[in-house]
Amino acid sequence: MRCRLGWHQWRTKSTEDGGRFQQCTRCDKVDDRSKLPPIAGGLG
Ligand SMILES: [Zn+2]
Repeated sequence: MRCRLGWHQWRTKSTEDGGRFQQCTRCDKVDDRSKLPPIAGGLG
């Protein structure tokens, strides 16, 4: 199991909110660091 060694097979996924994150295709682990907030802009 490569996942136990930290060799995850990240796959970029997107949420309905427009946010994006990476999830491993093998263990379904979600990379919190890759979490990005929904498209910002237009504020002000
Ligand atoms: Zn994994």
